[in-house]
Amino acid sequence: MVVRNPHLARLPGSYLFSEIGQRVATLRKARPDAPLIRLSIGDTTEPLPPSVAAHMGERAQAMASQAGYVGYGPERGMEPLRQLLSSAVYQGRIAPDELFVSDGAKCDIGRLQLLFDPSCSVAVQDPAYPAYVDTSLVAGRKVVYWPCTPENGFFPDLDTVEPAPLIFFCSPANPTGAAATRDQLQRLVEYAHAHRSIILYDSAYAPFVRDSQTPRSIFEIDGARQVALEIGSFSKLAGFTGVRLGWTAIPRELSFADGSPLATDWSRIITTFFNGASCLSQWGGVACLQPDGLQAIDQLATYYLSNAALLRAPLEAAGLSVYGGRQAPYLWVHTPGRDSWELFAHLLHTAHLVVVPGAGFGPSGRNFLRLSAFGTRPSMEEAAHRLAAATI
Ligand code: PLP
Repeated sequence: MVVRNPHLARLPGSYLFSEIGQRVATLRKARPDAPLIRLSIGDTTEPLPPSVAAHMGERAQAMASQAGYVGYGPERGMEPLRQLLSSAVYQGRIAPDELFVSDGAKCDIGRLQLLFDPSCSVAVQDPAYPAYVDTSLVAGRKVVYWPCTPENGFFPDLDTVEPAPLIFFCSPANPTGAAATRDQLQRLVEYAHAHRSIILYDSAYAPFVRDSQTPRSIFEIDGARQVALEIGSFSKLAGFTGVRLGWTAIPRELSFADGSPLATDWSRIITTFFNGASCLSQWGGVACLQPDGLQAIDQLATYYLSNAALLRAPLEAAGLSVYGGRQAPYLWVHTPGRDSWELFAHLLHTAHLVVVPGAGFGPSGRNFLRLSAFGTRPSMEEAAHRLAAATI
């Protein structure tokens, strides 16, 4: 007799984006010609920088020769990639041997759950990227919600929140688009020291930070190395959502309550559950972090932020409060007194726009919609026209 993992029953009925997909499929069945525009799932649309695609192509070709063939790679990822991450992303604050290359941030978020005892509860920003909650529930943890609303500037009130040994924190945040300030992150790090918590910091949207005062990494904050690890991704950095590449940075000072280093167990976990990111993706990552690659990927982020500005205009003209979108590819639209799933259905059926109901990201998202600025310019222009005509 095979018994189901009982924690799976704690998951909400359907993963948020599957639920949206089903509702869209129902509309498509009834109206196959409906000109849908997706402002929903945060998937990139713009082509890879040519230098990145060319480098991956050359390496793929080389694999057909004895000299260029490679098999399993080093456990922590290729040395040249870790060197470049250390210098170009972390300006030396994180050493190459503190970096573990992965097949993406979401995969690492799931695997990280294996590091900690199920009795360790986890705090998440409310609203938050659903994978933090869902992977924690499957791991058998209690999840504590830390409200992040316009009233507190989308930063949790650390004097009143329920403490938890683990803290998922995302900045710039999905879905609110809020980028935490240096002062806020300093307070978070001090809080983690005081409560002996570990911050699982998700920097997937760091490439969208435009203000030089806004930290791109938790390791820009004094004292972070003792209390934080960081999960990074090439998905939004370089349009690698399909290519797949990410990393986790674990400083050597970061340890469990018994003093043993996290990095040792993480190394054991990834060598047990994972055999490394594709070597072709890793070569693509190396190309991204060369000077011309860095310039090209910065232009990609600027492109999506211009999309965000296009979408923002009609919403603000309609008198709505719109957050995010300036240092993140998401707009977080406040619709007080309106149920977000109802508004989702309204925009889907009347404007053929697919948005994400804020309720899907946590209780504090109830009266919000998330609009993604990932899209081609013409589709974003059309979406902006439709938003201007829609009644929200
Ligand atoms: N972290 C956040 C906050 C995200 O929004 C996403 C994807 O949308 C991910 C991680 C997933 O990143 P990856 O594609 O590297 O798995």
